[in-house]
Formats: sequence, C-alpha cells, structure tokens
Amino acid sequence: MSDAKKPSTAEEEYFAREELKRREQTNIKKGHEEREKLKALHWMRCPKCGSELHEVAFRDVSIDRCEDCGGVFLDRGELEQLSGSEDNVIGAILQYFKKD
Ligand SMILES: [Zn+2]
Repeated sequence: MSDAKKPSTAEEEYFAREELKRREQTNIKKGHEEREKLKALHWMRCPKCGSELHEVAFRDVSIDRCEDCGGVFLDRGELEQLSGSEDNVIGAILQYFKKD
C-alpha cells in the first residue's frame, strides 16, 4: 500500500528536472527584465555624471557627448570607424571637442 503512494526514483528525477528547468526559465526572464530596466534608466545618460547625452555628428559618426561634464562616448565600432579615416584621429577629436 505505502509503495503505491511513494513516487519512483525515475518520477522524482523527472519532477526535479522539470523544476530545475522552470527555475532556469524564471532566472533568464528576471535577468532580461533587469537588463531592460537598467537600459531604460541609463539610456543616453552620462556614465560619469548622469546628465543627458547629446548626439554630435563628427566625420559621419554620431558621437554621444555630455553637455555637462564634456565627456565624449563612442558606441561599438565607432572608434574603429574614426581611426580608419585619419592617421591622427585622436588629435582631431581633441581639437573638435576642445572647450574655450
Ligand atoms: Zn557627464
């Protein structure tokens, strides 16, 4: 009688695997939601001072610049885009964004 109520080892393993899968899916979903929240919070905000970033066109590349602290930020691939066009690109960038 008691053996009928007791789940077999195979059943226990099955449910344990299903539970593990369910938890992994929940963690993936939570991780995705957390990244989306952070992205919404930090999108186009200066990583140094938190002020708003503004896009500035520089040699066909859209550079993000902080109007408050003067920080300049490049998206993935933009530095390569810029460095491919000029030998002294760093000097040109510094000259372009030089404060009065
Ligand atoms: Zn800033």
